[in-house]
Amino acid sequence: MGGPLCRVGGWRAGHGRLTDTLSALATPLARNIQPKQEDPRLSEESVRELEALAQTAAGCTACRLSENRTTVVFGDGDPLADLMFIGEGPGFNEDQQGLPFVGKSGNLLEQLLDEIGLHRKEVYIANVVKCRPPNNRDPQQEEIEACKGYLRRQLELIQPKVVMTLGNFSTKLLLKTTTGITNLRGTAHPWWGRQLVPTFHPAAALRGGPRVLDQMRQDFALTATLLNTEVVEAPSDDAEQLGLFR
Ligand code: URA
Repeated sequence: MGGPLCRVGGWRAGHGRLTDTLSALATPLARNIQPKQEDPRLSEESVRELEALAQTAAGCTACRLSENRTTVVFGDGDPLADLMFIGEGPGFNEDQQGLPFVGKSGNLLEQLLDEIGLHRKEVYIANVVKCRPPNNRDPQQEEIEACKGYLRRQLELIQPKVVMTLGNFSTKLLLKTTTGITNLRGTAHPWWGRQLVPTFHPAAALRGGPRVLDQMRQDFALTATLLNTEVVEAPSDDAEQLGLFR
C-alpha cells in the first residue's frame, strides 16, 4: 500500500457515485461536505485489495467459528468510506445473508444514518469477527486473534476518518479498556490518527427504548460534526505498526 491518503473535508472524490453524492449533499447535515482531492489510483488499488481480501476470508478456516457458519460476513458498504462501523460479530440473519447488520438492528442503524443525511451504502460496516459465534455468544480470544488481521487490513485500506463502535464488546476491545459503553459513549476518542465514537449496539436501543435511542442520536450527531471537520493530518495507514489489538 502507498502512504496515507490526504483527506480534506468529509468525502473522498472519485468514488464513482456522483449522483448519490449530489443527492446527499442536498440533505441538511451533509450539505457542507466538500469532495476531497486525492490520487484515484490509490483508491482503485485499495478497492481491489479489499475485494481480494473478502475472497480470501470467504474460505477462511483459521478458527473453529468456520465450522458452523453459513456465510462469512466480511463487511459491506463503500470501500472508501469516511465512516466505518465496527460491531461484534454476525448474528443469525447476518450469517444467513452474508451481510452485517441486517434485520431489526440493521434497520435501526439505517434510520440513524438517514437522520444524519447518510445512506448505508455510503459507509462501511464490519465486525470484529467475520463468522457467527454459536448462540450469539461473545467472540473468544483465540477467535479474535485469528480474525484480527482482516479488520486491521480493512481499516488500513478504507482509512475511515471516523470509526463508530457499536456496543460494549467492540468498544472495549478497540479502546483496550474495561470501562463500559455507558461511560465511554457521548464523546470522541482519538484513536490511531482518527476519531472513534462509541455508541450502543442497535439491539440495546431496541430493548432499551427512547432514552438509549436518544443517546445514540446524540452520538450520530457527533459523528456528523466530525465528518464535516477538516482533517489537517492524514490518518496513518498502518494500523499494525500502531499496535492495533496488541
Ligand atoms: N450484531 C453485530 O454485532 N454485528 C452484526 O453484524 C449483527 C448484529
